[in-house]
Amino acid sequence: MLRIGIMGGTFDPVHYGHLVAAEQAWYRFGLDKVVFVPTGRPPHKPESQVSDAHHRLRMTVLATQSNEHFEVSSVEVDRPGPTYAIDTVRQFRDAYPPGTALYFITGADAILTMMEWKDSDTLVQLCEFVAATRPGYQLADERIREIFGPAAHRIHFFEVPALAISSTDIRDRVRTGRPIRYLLPDAVMDYIAGAGLYRD
Ligand code: ATP
Ligand code: MG
Repeated sequence: MLRIGIMGGTFDPVHYGHLVAAEQAWYRFGLDKVVFVPTGRPPHKPESQVSDAHHRLRMTVLATQSNEHFEVSSVEVDRPGPTYAIDTVRQFRDAYPPGTALYFITGADAILTMMEWKDSDTLVQLCEFVAATRPGYQLADERIREIFGPAAHRIHFFEVPALAISSTDIRDRVRTGRPIRYLLPDAVMDYIAGAGLYRD
């Protein structure tokens, strides 16, 4: 049986927090591969505040190409209209053989707002959820059951080393001329400089 990880994100830009979370999920859940899916237009972020999809897609390819079990998909970027996880998971369901287990990888911050996602009750029927948490961060079982109800058993938390890296902080650093080296792969850093991203 195939086990496929789906790592969704704006990836504006992709950074080591994303890469570490994906690699740890790959190992912890015995995944065959992790597919990075940069979002098209995120429904909760105004279009003007997000870099062009082709930049985000390119940076994600650059960041993942040295890892043989990482892949990048443009399904969300290619789909018109706002991006919803449910549409992506359905596309993966159709693309892989029946019985394939799908693991949607997120940060713990994202999972806590999941119940606000479009068709979240259907979504948990279609895939497992794995949420990266920092070591020491423990969400009580009862709280998980409270939030997710009968779907709680499909939500898995796993620890990744404390990475306080965020795309917001990286964009801020570029804007104010502070270094971003070692927060993300060199190839992505060079791409940002070459394309002049995040300078306003
Ligand atoms: P932004 O600051 O613009 O919100 P971000 O750094 O949170 O960007 P996203 O593209 O929004 O990056 O995140 C994609 C996914 O990766 C989300 O599920 C998010 O929770 C998770 N994630 C983001 N940063 C980290 C990190 N440092 N460690 C583990 N997971 C992370
Ligand atoms: Mg975020």
